[in-house]
Amino acid sequence: MSESSYKKRMQRKKEYIDSRIDQANIDKGIIVLLTGNGKGKSSSAMGMICRALGYDMKVGLVRYLKGDQQTGEDLFLENHPNIIAAHMESGFTWDTQDKEQDKIKATATWYEAKQFLSNPEIAVVVLDEITYMINYKYLEESDVLEALINRPKDQHVVITGRAASQGLIDISDTVSEVEDIKHAFRANIRAQKGIDL
Ligand code: ATP
Ligand code: MG
Repeated sequence: MSESSYKKRMQRKKEYIDSRIDQANIDKGIIVLLTGNGKGKSSSAMGMICRALGYDMKVGLVRYLKGDQQTGEDLFLENHPNIIAAHMESGFTWDTQDKEQDKIKATATWYEAKQFLSNPEIAVVVLDEITYMINYKYLEESDVLEALINRPKDQHVVITGRAASQGLIDISDTVSEVEDIKHAFRANIRAQKGIDL
């Protein structure tokens, strides 16, 4: 391709992108859904928390399925004045499979999440690993969708977890599926501080 035709092509591309940027003039709270089997969902949510905190926005952080192992971001963020956190009490039991007990814990955490989703002071709500709660029927999908629909109109929500239900996909504005191409764990490398936890 000649230099001049390359320049023309880039010019056309720039005009197209500029016109799309001009068209995108709506501000509103959006729902970002991060799903799929690859690594990078919760850590992406934590990245968006950092972005929001940088603008002095308030963040509601709800984590389901929190194991006993604290993550680096828990240690870093736990006393941040702009974060209000609600964690499903640890001890979620794959082992005992105490379904009733887990359902009670999930419901109690959802009650706190709902407070966040009705508080216009909270600019960003993160619902980490909530997809499982819906898939296991610990939470009613319709309850979750209703609270999301009725949230303050400028409030953003970030949802993470594998196998997101169709209802969550339909209600979200931005949906990314993280594909698992390779994971270090399969080469017997245990979870590494600062990367995996
Ligand atoms: P991260 O918190 O690192 O962004 P994630 O939220 O995308 O990961 P989860 O399914 O919540 O993924 O799993 C969290 C933990 O499991 C992390 O330590 C992560 O490295 C690890 N993990 C994620 N995906 C895989 C995978 N495909 N195989 C093995 N381990 C994984
Ligand atoms: Mg995760």
